[in-house]
Amino acid sequence: MTVALQALIDGLGGPPARPGTVYLVGGGPGDPGLLTLRAAVVLSTCDLVAYDRLAPAEALRLAPPDAELICVGKRSGEQGLSRAAVDDLLVSRARAGDAVVRLKGGDPFVFGRGGEEAAACRAHGVAVEVVSGVTSAVAVPAAAGIPLTHRTVASGFAVVTGHEDPAESSGSVDHALLADFPGTVVVLMGVGQVRAFAAALISHGKPADTPVALVRWGTTARQETVEGTLATIAAEVQRRGLRPPAVAVIGDVVRLRGGIGGREDLPLMGRTVLVPRTLHRPSALAARIRSAGGEPLEVQVARPGPGDTAGLHAAARDLAAGAYATLVASGPPAVTALADALAAAGLDARALAGVRVAAVGRGAVRALGDRLAIRADVTGADLDQLARRLAELDDRGGTLVLAADPGDPGPLATFHPVVVTAYALVAVTDVPDRLRREVQDGMPLLAAVASSTAATGLARLLGDATTRVAAATIGAHTTRAAREAGLTVAAEAAEPDLDALVAAVIEAARSQPGANNVSDGPRPLLPVEDRP
Ligand code: SAH
Repeated sequence: MTVALQALIDGLGGPPARPGTVYLVGGGPGDPGLLTLRAAVVLSTCDLVAYDRLAPAEALRLAPPDAELICVGKRSGEQGLSRAAVDDLLVSRARAGDAVVRLKGGDPFVFGRGGEEAAACRAHGVAVEVVSGVTSAVAVPAAAGIPLTHRTVASGFAVVTGHEDPAESSGSVDHALLADFPGTVVVLMGVGQVRAFAAALISHGKPADTPVALVRWGTTARQETVEGTLATIAAEVQRRGLRPPAVAVIGDVVRLRGGIGGREDLPLMGRTVLVPRTLHRPSALAARIRSAGGEPLEVQVARPGPGDTAGLHAAARDLAAGAYATLVASGPPAVTALADALAAAGLDARALAGVRVAAVGRGAVRALGDRLAIRADVTGADLDQLARRLAELDDRGGTLVLAADPGDPGPLATFHPVVVTAYALVAVTDVPDRLRREVQDGMPLLAAVASSTAATGLARLLGDATTRVAAATIGAHTTRAAREAGLTVAAEAAEPDLDALVAAVIEAARSQPGANNVSDGPRPLLPVEDRP
């Protein structure tokens, strides 16, 4: 993302989260793209996130690295915090001065008990802001290609809970009224009672051949849809073993599904794609995989470690002495190393006065602002783009590149730079839990490999499972490294860019018909150190 776009989001999303306030935030149905700008701003500026299991896992990555993440929701069979304990947590932390985000799935006021939590906070004198979210009631049917209203088919919709047993008179859902309702009926939390619910509508006169669809994990890579009629849906749900969470849609709009198409038509639907990476940053590759329907599993294969300290100290002094006209920071760790070296030499950002500062990637640009309070003069999404942009400028001579070990200036070589190893990439050896789970289920695996370091790092973490991977690589160089590491390369990107890499992943998926391998375990929760 460009810096300008980031600033625009910050501006449109409203002011940062205020200390002492509770933000009741709807995280949308699962696809992180459906988070609101306001949600992104308060998440990225809060001290604590108390989240439900249904809240999109990716949203948690927006929280600052030192923010506390507490799971307060329960899944069936799991013990969550009691209502009172959640209220206490929100109130006590806000009173202690924290900016608290209470993150829920969908919209906080649609069966989310958001109203109760807001009232509890207000009763204790704690300020509350409600950040509406995209409710699953609307977005999940849409992701399956079902519009809730449609001219001549349905002119309204009703959203009800399916949690109650229709046989119990204490229930508040009026099935007789629903059976007569002239529009689409949407049922949340309805998987367990689907048989009783359908029977109740039929017994109150709703035609037994009314179409029904249940959409599970809508808007995510594991989305699946079961279709039937009021008469057949319960048996169909049982046959397919469909479990919560699912949204049920009852009405003629379900017939429109084929003509509209939904997420399930996407080429990587239902596939987990391993994305090995070496730096902490929101992966543009992962985002592209998600938009092609897949579930990216980002695997940190290396971390930045200390670089050439003596070289950095000398570079800091040389910069201050005016020895370089251009400075290139190849990533956030390079900026950190530079700031540390300047400080160690008793210098600060003024040493860079008159130096053209160039940065690769948004993270480095942000780090320059955060650590040195300076703006990059030239930026590029990657080294190639940066090199092209630098080449368009007048040549003032003297370029210093702060790079990752092994200090390959790549396309910047044309500037004959002095290269200092600002940081080394240290191999990660602990296999992340999610990767271990993914490997255990024995399914074929897909991987999107964007560099040779990523290839060797992934193979190291996969061990014996390496042979089960059909990899797509970004180019010939990476293909060689991947093969040497034991990966099967099923496809290679036609161009060295991320879109072409995703096209190669789709090709690799076709070569590996293992179909749906998005595991059904708990939703992926990122370890704290995996946040950018
Ligand atoms: N506040 C939430 C609803 C909470 S009740 C919202 O506005 O969406 C929980 C129910 O929401 C689940 O039982 C299921 O019916 C539905 N749900 C939420 N996310 C879902 C998803 N991604 N796919 C299918 N159903 C979902």
